Amino acid sequence: MAFWRTKKWSYMYRKHNSSIHDEMDVCSMFDSSDESDSSDESDSSEESDSSDEADSSDECDLSEESDSADKSKTGYKRIKSKHPRSTYNVEDKKEKKENGNIIQHIYNTGLDHDDWSKAMDTFLVCKINGVHNPNIMRNNPENHAEQLLIRHLKKKYKEKKMPFKLTVYINNSPCSMCAKALENFLNKNQNVKLTFYVTNMYHIKRTSCFKARHFEHLNSIPKKSHKANSEGLRDLLRHKRCNIKAFNMGVWKELLNTVDVLPKLKTKLIGGYNRIQHANKRSRGYEDDLIKKDLMYLKSYKK
Ligand SMILES: [Zn+2]
Ligand SMILES: [Zn+2]
Repeated sequence: MAFWRTKKWSYMYRKHNSSIHDEMDVCSMFDSSDESDSSDESDSSEESDSSDEADSSDECDLSEESDSADKSKTGYKRIKSKHPRSTYNVEDKKEKKENGNIIQHIYNTGLDHDDWSKAMDTFLVCKINGVHNPNIMRNNPENHAEQLLIRHLKKKYKEKKMPFKLTVYINNSPCSMCAKALENFLNKNQNVKLTFYVTNMYHIKRTSCFKARHFEHLNSIPKKSHKANSEGLRDLLRHKRCNIKAFNMGVWKELLNTVDVLPKLKTKLIGGYNRIQHANKRSRGYEDDLIKKDLMYLKSYKK
């Protein structure tokens, strides 16, 4: 069982975060229903209605990835199950599986440089002020996932109350347009600190790919998009309240402990971190390491 489910931890968490909890309605980090004997169910059930905004689009069904053009699959969804712990059932398991598919999609993006199909769908998990129960967003034909996130935050919070710490786990680095939008967002909200963990540098000719002589891959990226995306990402990398980083083992553990997934997925992803897995050409560990170096190089690169 995941550690955040344990009563002791949960209790400590509530204690330390009670003030945040009151202020930020989106941050219902624990369904108190997780604990059958919990005495304060009322507040969490009220809070859970913040998910009402998550329209009919709730479903992030990866089983039909080709559906990405379906407009109904827009917005975000609440990851945490609304079902009380005591009624742990098929629905609960289904939700964990769906969450697991999303995490697996983020994990697998970029592990084969000859196949970028996974990078076509962007999934973003956003943790607000360090609490659990994050939001998930997926791109759609009209909006990139980052745009949906910014829109959601603006709608949810008045400017003064904008959360301080945003942690985003995402499979594509922001494109030039989103990088600009994020920069503007940061400049308008001076108290916000943003951390992005990426599993792929979106449409950028990477230094490590030149070293590995991935000419086919490199040639598939138009010069124009490379220029715009790398400049946008570099500006964002240099923003003093924005951190763009590669994942590492610790970050994967953090993500897997944040999102409600089946325990066997954790074992699979963490256990296989340094192994080349079925259908991939690289291990996640190897790729994360290269992304880290490529980001550092991009940050220091002079115009
Ligand atoms: Zn974008
Ligand atoms: Zn490559």
